[in-house]
Amino acid sequence: MIPDFTAFCGELARLFEDVRQHRGGGVASYIPQLARADVDGFAVAVCTIDGQRFSIGDTTTRYCVQSTCKPINYAIALDQLGIDTVHPHVGREPSGHSFNEITLNARGLPHNPMINAGAIMCASLIAPDLSAADRFDTVLQTWGKLAGQPSVGFDNAVFLSERDTADRNFALAYFMRENGAFPDGTDLKATLDLYFQCCSITVDAPGMATIAATFANGGVCPLSNERVFTADPTKNCLSLMASCGLYDFSGEFAFTVGLPAKSGVSGALFITIADVCGIAIWSPRLDALGNSVRGVEFARRLAKAFAFDGLPET
Ligand code: GLN
Repeated sequence: MIPDFTAFCGELARLFEDVRQHRGGGVASYIPQLARADVDGFAVAVCTIDGQRFSIGDTTTRYCVQSTCKPINYAIALDQLGIDTVHPHVGREPSGHSFNEITLNARGLPHNPMINAGAIMCASLIAPDLSAADRFDTVLQTWGKLAGQPSVGFDNAVFLSERDTADRNFALAYFMRENGAFPDGTDLKATLDLYFQCCSITVDAPGMATIAATFANGGVCPLSNERVFTADPTKNCLSLMASCGLYDFSGEFAFTVGLPAKSGVSGALFITIADVCGIAIWSPRLDALGNSVRGVEFARRLAKAFAFDGLPET
């Protein structure tokens, strides 16, 4: 519970106005659907573990989740299979490389689930025996439960574009197959399709904030009180968000902000403050590493304004 929630929201609104002045960076352009995003779109939303909510800016705009699907897919795989089955296929160390670098760790595995190779691997682990439709339904229904409300959708144009321009992701998948990284019997095409579909899920900032709050609340959605993930996958997922959540900016983000977070090339960023709240920021202006300029700036200012997560106030 945030004791003076009104004052907290006032501070968030002040940070929002300050950060809105930032006009650096540009929209992702590798697919037309992202290139056409409103460059000045900007939303911030918060949901506490008690279900208190506040949002400001373009709060009804739905954006595709892109790489913010990675922690959710990892948590689904962990929840279904456990770490002893998941981690023989994916590492848990930061890569220090960009999100789609063609590189594997010394064991021939993707470095972690928060970059493309690891996320493709996690997609291969999600309910591989089900039909393609049921596998995607499993993921989409989980998003709905995490958000506790019907604010989750799917952008088919993004999916089709992702699939049409996915040479790098195909290359990553074949490289992993060459290294024997996938479970036996993995269908590469079905795995990649599921990964592209997950990137094309859409959500608004209030929905994303609730998802972050469900992670902050140990896997129980604060709006519905439904348990979506057990405690261990939730905690493991937050650990990897803290060390690997912002691609090759993860170390710097951990140093300056110190909170588990995940970014996506649509300009999505969500931050989890364990036992307190989830915060979602959406602004499609990206920096050179693919992180939202305003998202990172908002997170920095937030961490400076509040002594979250045991960090001393400066
Ligand atoms: N769809 C993008 C890709 O696979 C997602 C990457 C991202 O958000 N960083 O390349």
